[in-house]
Amino acid sequence: MDIIIGAGISGLGYAAATLHDYTIIEREDRVGGYCKTFYEGDYVWDYSGHFFHFQHPKIKDYVMEQIAEEEMLSVQKKTQIIYNGRHIDFPFQMNIHQLEKEEFIDCLYDLFNIPEDADKNITSFKTMLYAKFGRGIAEKFLIPYNSKLYATDLDKLDVDAMGRFFPYADKEQIIRNFRNTTNKSYNATFLYPKRGCVRVVESVASHVDSSKIFFNENCLKIDTEHQIVHTDKRDIHYDHLISSMPFTHLMDACGIEYDKEIYSCNKVMVFNLGFDSKGPETQNNWIYFPNTNLVFYRVGFYDNILQQNKMSLYVEIGFNHSEKIPDEQELLQRTMEDLRKVGIVTTQKLIAHNTLVMDPAYVHITKSSEQDKQDKMEQLASKNIYSIGRYGAWKYCSLEDNLFDAFELAKRIG
Ligand SMILES: Cc1cc2nc3c(=O)[nH]c(=O)nc-3n(C[C@H](O)[C@H](O)[C@H](O)COP(=O)(O)OP(=O)(O)OC[C@H]3O[C@@H](n4cnc5c(N)ncnc54)[C@H](O)[C@@H]3O)c2cc1C
Repeated sequence: MDIIIGAGISGLGYAAATLHDYTIIEREDRVGGYCKTFYEGDYVWDYSGHFFHFQHPKIKDYVMEQIAEEEMLSVQKKTQIIYNGRHIDFPFQMNIHQLEKEEFIDCLYDLFNIPEDADKNITSFKTMLYAKFGRGIAEKFLIPYNSKLYATDLDKLDVDAMGRFFPYADKEQIIRNFRNTTNKSYNATFLYPKRGCVRVVESVASHVDSSKIFFNENCLKIDTEHQIVHTDKRDIHYDHLISSMPFTHLMDACGIEYDKEIYSCNKVMVFNLGFDSKGPETQNNWIYFPNTNLVFYRVGFYDNILQQNKMSLYVEIGFNHSEKIPDEQELLQRTMEDLRKVGIVTTQKLIAHNTLVMDPAYVHITKSSEQDKQDKMEQLASKNIYSIGRYGAWKYCSLEDNLFDAFELAKRIG
């Protein structure tokens, strides 16, 4: 019997693919993990914006099999940055020509004055930003924005902390983009179900025996010697344990000691906000905010994606994992003030909202976290314990990656 911890996309993906018998333990009352949707009147709100961009046609077909074509929107991404009150297309580094003239010259001059041996000095995410883009681009957008998002010193992060999700561009691509705009990115066109991101999870869950999912059951401890999971309801023996809970929680449950400094992460507070009417921002799917005086780092517009006639936002605010989140009402008030400052809220009235905290949200990938994780995972695998998923594998990835990894594991141990 395989015990699967978590009915998010990773746990469900493994269950759907394994040939073993299985039991899924989920501490919440429904499937989805971070890929859930809430319906509030006409508003469709996810945990935070979740959009789909597939690299593997087989995974796309698998997910789409259970979703009617007319249910899925294909959206040409439109995203911008509000920088010093000006709208600049994303990514910033490809669109410096849209800046005010002096700022543009700063960025361009610094881009062409990167020392030839700059690559030799790359030791962290932050030094990589200087070495690849020069001081102007790094200090006007890439450093302030990513520091707000990750809520940590970018010097602590690995060069490759964002993997394929970081929009690299060389000088030639930047110059070409001045006239011939491509703004190419991994998600230039994305898919989004009209009833929210949970439809993708439901599609995968349709391959899982629902009688084998046990909700409101929390995995507390794991006896790795006798292969027993202790939950708040019972003790269950396993042949293989597949965990999608955060890697740090798994190590705690197994009694494995680790350096807590190594496994740091941010947490994201999300306000989903529903207004009585449409706002002035009718084009963008989401907007990035590098300005450190504004509380949020990103604001998304469900209404623009779903073509709704009332403004429906998700607002993301980053905190370090160790930080205390301020009072929710004060933060909401501050958020509304800042939304007014940047012109997103004018005369519209807020008529509905919900608040969520994603903790962890973005893990801080460092050389030591990668090395330590590798060692601990090998140790666990020797005891038939496998840690998968965005937080289980302590990495930066998409839902598609989670499904891919879950299917691969099912093949490998099946
Ligand atoms: C702000 C943000 C935006 C994102 N946007 C996108 C996007 O646009 N597109 C995209 O593809 N991906 C996106 N992602 C990534 C995506 O959310 C994750 O890759 C995916 O949801 C991870 O799924 P998972 O099953 O690995 O983990 P989770 O979704 O975290 O699921 C783990 C499950 O385990 C359960 N669990 C945990 N501990 C226990 C326990 N002790 N006992 C029992 N159950 C337990 C949890 O309740 C949960 O249901 C985004 C992530 C964030 C933070």
